Amino acid sequence: MKKQPQPEPETQVGVPVVERAAAVCLRCGWQWFPRVEHPARCPHCSSALWDTPRAQRLPGKPPPTRKGKARGASFDSESATRAINKRHAQNAQKPVDSDETS
Ligand SMILES: [Zn+2]
Repeated sequence: MKKQPQPEPETQVGVPVVERAAAVCLRCGWQWFPRVEHPARCPHCSSALWDTPRAQRLPGKPPPTRKGKARGASFDSESATRAINKRHAQNAQKPVDSDETS
């Protein structure tokens, strides 16, 4: 069985084949081939923490809300309603003169 010489794929001279995995920025999702092994920052978003994932939030756990100490908004709604009623009372006392602009 004759073996025909297969033309070997010529490697481009001057362009070194980098067997380096592409770096992926965990912040902006940018993918690039870094020249160094551990680039200082992402070339796209220039984040120094490009290889550090964000604080993982456990699934099913609701994000922390700001209000948590105020247990029950009944007091706030009650005071708000009282303020609205007071404002209405003041408006009722004042005569609304709509013909003033004309
Ligand atoms: Zn980035």
